[in-house]
Amino acid sequence: MVSGDVLVEEGRIVSVGSSDLSADEVIDCTGCAIVPGLINLHNHVPNTLLRGVADDVPLEEMLPKAAVIDAKLTRRDVQVGALLGCVEMIRSGTTSFHDLFYWEDEVARAVRESGIRGFLSWVTLDESRTTQHGSPLKNADAFVAKQKGDPLVTPSIGVQGVYAASEETCTKAREIADRHQVRLHMHLSETRGEVEHHRKETGHRPIAWLEKIGFLGPGLTAAHCVWVTINEVRTLARHGVSVAHCPVSNMKLASGGVAPVPEMLREGVVVGLGTDSPISNNAMDVFADMKIASLLHKATRWDARAMPAQAVLDLATIGAARALHVDSELGSIEVGKRADLAVVSLQGAHTTPFYPETLISQLVYSCRGSDVRATIVDGQILMADRVVQTVDEAEVVSRAQETARELFEA
Ligand SMILES: [Zn+2]
Repeated sequence: MVSGDVLVEEGRIVSVGSSDLSADEVIDCTGCAIVPGLINLHNHVPNTLLRGVADDVPLEEMLPKAAVIDAKLTRRDVQVGALLGCVEMIRSGTTSFHDLFYWEDEVARAVRESGIRGFLSWVTLDESRTTQHGSPLKNADAFVAKQKGDPLVTPSIGVQGVYAASEETCTKAREIADRHQVRLHMHLSETRGEVEHHRKETGHRPIAWLEKIGFLGPGLTAAHCVWVTINEVRTLARHGVSVAHCPVSNMKLASGGVAPVPEMLREGVVVGLGTDSPISNNAMDVFADMKIASLLHKATRWDARAMPAQAVLDLATIGAARALHVDSELGSIEVGKRADLAVVSLQGAHTTPFYPETLISQLVYSCRGSDVRATIVDGQILMADRVVQTVDEAEVVSRAQETARELFEA
């Protein structure tokens, strides 16, 4: 931790810790901490419109309930839902998110409009199982070709999961990603049912099967990895696969197990933190999920030292940046990195008293997304004094409310 100013020029951090600097624009951070912008390593942002449609049921019941509304979504709905999600994330200090959905070109539009950074994976799955218009593989291929090279949008190829993607689909998805030199993003070993079903169908658990078909590699980020053995953790480490840990979603859906994150970290797997969908969280406040991640591992291991505050803050910042292979640019406040920052107030009743020595604990155990005063991406101020600068928040919220009501009533 350093005291003093952070100076930003042309989107990059050029000085940290000095206290006698001048600048064209100054944000007063008195009584605040400046933290690296949080990175949400796994979500489905357009699903903000489906928030609350399938609460208090397991994944197997949530998916069909969500699919009924999902089948009615139009391109415009996806754009409206994505913009609402971007506003929610900006308001709670998230500066990057890793999305898995279709019509990601509409999500990209919301990213550019709001100014947040998007790592956007167009999801692929077997044509017989999709609600997408056209071939998911062709759609994903075209999306990546069109969006590559954008300063805020990093496109990639998604795979729904082994329960919805055959060997042929997985292999083709990997080929497209390799051809474009972009990343892969999938759900993996989320529930016991998924693991057992796949073992019965193929004779292999999902990770062994993906290794056999040559799918695993450092370009893959796998969400969940709840039902994995220590040998599977070692397989992930050996292939350089990174993991998006989604504790709130796993707990809400009662997936049953707990992802062995301490073992993943010990074995060298790179891990970040994801909220997962607004259907299964239901918020996208990474502050809340940091605290819950820490508590989950402490509670289930009877070990108050498990997942300490610094470890979970790392998951939400530099860990996620490493997972996406962008840690030379994002994930910490260092000279030369992109200026993706959040300014967090430490002056609330719930964060008082504050001592510099306990800053990391305060951020993880006391702070909430609503304590974020300012959010900055690439040097651009997206929120100042809790007012979103890039889009009209009230208009985004009312349009989303209206769109969601039309979807439910249709
Ligand atoms: Zn998910």
